[in-house]
Amino acid sequence: MFSSLQDRLGSILNGLTGRGALSEADVSAALREVRRALLEADVALEVVRSFTDRVKEKAVGAEILKSIKPGQMVVKIVHDELVATLGTEGVSIDLNAPAPVTVMMVGLQGSGKTTTTGKIAKRFTERQKKRVLMASLDTRRPAAQEQLRVLGEQTGVATLPIIPGQGPVEIAVRASQAARLGGYDILILDTAGRTHIDEPLMAEMAEIKARSTPHEILLVADSLTGQDAVNLARSFDGRVGITGIVLTRVDGDGRGGAALSMRAVTGKPIKLLGTGEKMDALEEFHPSRVADRILGMGDIVSLVERAAENIDAERAAAMAKKMQSGKFDLNDLADQIGQMQKMGGLGGLMGMMPGVAKMKDQIAGAGLDDRLLKRQLAIISSMTAYERANPDALKHSRKKRIAAGSGTSSADINKLLKMHRQMADMMKAVGKGKGPGIMGKLMG
Ligand code: GDP
Repeated sequence: MFSSLQDRLGSILNGLTGRGALSEADVSAALREVRRALLEADVALEVVRSFTDRVKEKAVGAEILKSIKPGQMVVKIVHDELVATLGTEGVSIDLNAPAPVTVMMVGLQGSGKTTTTGKIAKRFTERQKKRVLMASLDTRRPAAQEQLRVLGEQTGVATLPIIPGQGPVEIAVRASQAARLGGYDILILDTAGRTHIDEPLMAEMAEIKARSTPHEILLVADSLTGQDAVNLARSFDGRVGITGIVLTRVDGDGRGGAALSMRAVTGKPIKLLGTGEKMDALEEFHPSRVADRILGMGDIVSLVERAAENIDAERAAAMAKKMQSGKFDLNDLADQIGQMQKMGGLGGLMGMMPGVAKMKDQIAGAGLDDRLLKRQLAIISSMTAYERANPDALKHSRKKRIAAGSGTSSADINKLLKMHRQMADMMKAVGKGKGPGIMGKLMG
């Protein structure tokens, strides 16, 4: 899976040189490769577009950390954005409902529905000691119900006895009753497929859904069909509503475009990957692991993460020194505000510091809330370097100019200066050992 993308991105690494911040030209050149690689991997065009736009937005102007090459920085940003596109966290089948929890499998004929039904049933039975009942609702393909019965025998999972002549909805209702009466934890309904989507199929799925109220509706899609699989997911989701996707035949898919597009297009998580014909060839879907595999550059990603940690540690140490000497100017304040934003704003910051309710009130009293952080930064960046280092020297006329330059008012500037003074006083107290090392704790 994803081998072509790996090859492509490798060349980006070597292509980028230079220091400082990532330039637009560097980023654009790298992103041209990324774009081409994604399109070749059969990722949906709309997904490629929004993906590269997002990477560009984050990358242009991004500071290149010490000991990191620009290409490595781009790889890290691409990696993080891949994880976001794939869904940040792995989502498994949700069993959080009264038993029997019904899981309905939908998809086209030959996509691997029956095989996957068997795999999932086997897994829940063996790993979680669940009592699982499987039922085939496929009355169109003569051997379908028999196929599931045989799978059940092989895996030791119960199947609903076959009653010839019953229709899919009838079987679904009977299966629900049997699961309830039999005390099963999970009921998996393997529905009939078609070679393509048509209205009778959708109507049948909607009726089965209405009569058996499934907790999960999983679309089984063949990863090899690429864009078709994505369109399929969109159609099924629009008409029946799906709760997740199982991508099959990932073992034979060298491109992986479907995996990348599915989540972005449907908003529904990929829950499992089918990686072979055997009954245990089923993998959980972990976005970060898949992103690592796509890039094949996990070591670079951790390298950049480590470098970022070092920088933060260096900054924290420098800040601690400043605090001890009682010097805390507006440059430092801007730094702190930046850190606060990085850690999820004021709320996130306070959440990380136990026992600072008093300080919270003080800061809130000084007019600092998340909405204001941005404005504060704008004010500070409108000042000269001298003013930032010596805020007490600010005259009224300069305040007016700075207010105009930052789109704020003189009152805003006075508020900021007051807050800075309060913080500097607190810092001094902390530096002299009169309190806990708040900022140190914060950044350590
Ligand atoms: P259904 O019509 O959707 O129920 O599809 P089946 O479950 O009958 O699967 C069709 C074929 O695909 C069978 O030969 C399966 O062994 C094969 N198959 C299913 N899942 C996978 C997979 O993840 N990898 C591979 N290589 N083959 C699979």
